[in-house]
Amino acid sequence: MTQVGTPKHDQIPIGEVAKPPFARLPDPLAMFARRADRLKSLAERHELRSYLAFLAELCGIQHRLQDGLADADPPAADAIARAREFGMPPLDRARFTRDAALDAAWQRLLAMADEMAMPDSARLALARVKASGAVAEAAMIGAVLSNAIPVEALAEHVFVAAVLQVHFAHLASQLDAKTLVPIGDGVCPACGSPPVSSMVVGWRGAHASRFCACSLCGTLWNYPRVKCTLCGATQGIAYQEIAGGPGTIKAETCESCRGYVKILHQQNDPLLDPLADDVATLALDLLVRDLGYRRGAVNPFLLGY
Ligand SMILES: [Zn+2]
Ligand SMILES: [Zn+2]
Repeated sequence: MTQVGTPKHDQIPIGEVAKPPFARLPDPLAMFARRADRLKSLAERHELRSYLAFLAELCGIQHRLQDGLADADPPAADAIARAREFGMPPLDRARFTRDAALDAAWQRLLAMADEMAMPDSARLALARVKASGAVAEAAMIGAVLSNAIPVEALAEHVFVAAVLQVHFAHLASQLDAKTLVPIGDGVCPACGSPPVSSMVVGWRGAHASRFCACSLCGTLWNYPRVKCTLCGATQGIAYQEIAGGPGTIKAETCESCRGYVKILHQQNDPLLDPLADDVATLALDLLVRDLGYRRGAVNPFLLGY
């Protein structure tokens, strides 16, 4: 089902002028718990039931890791100021260096994952991650941070991505949202990652505004509606959805770059989660791919795409 042009079903309530903040930093304590709950409820009566239930448990671990998380070294104030001056993200993932806080989170997450119920293939992948030496670990971290996860090792990288999400969300939550500036189309202003999806929100004071959701640190950044989140084009934007669906999740396609990113209408369904609902709508990816569009979003938890 295709819809072209301006979405018309989300008028702003009278008296509520939307003045969205440019960025909203993640609240890791709430984010991972909500995501785990969402995945658990999505798993019920879903064809990807066992995988979504596995991810729900993994996000539950991401949440439990928050208790006792080692202090990560936030960037110094002058480094943040310099990044801002040069239009760079303050937590630039391209220049990430491993530290003691990441190592501690890594060890704890793998130990907790040992207790999880999971399919044999995931269990084997977990064992491979645990048996990796420093060089292999660095390669896996590099693959996640450069969106170059090898297709034959997706299962291993799910665990590595989970650790990195915890680490970067923790760092991002300590930033001052007011210091963040736009870096470019499809780039998180906190860490430089691409979006996992975008959301039209129903927040008070920002009703019907659209935010891109970072695939790594969870920061949300304001972005105009009906504009390609990948290349910034405003012409040739259309919306695809699965026929007969609830109309709350669509693929925003762009004729200029032939890419697409999903857009979630959270103002109509507050339970929608930018990462969980992306995984659970794999059928929409397959539909849009068949139409010749390239997936522009990044989601290390998306299965077999
Ligand atoms: Zn980010
Ligand atoms: Zn585009």
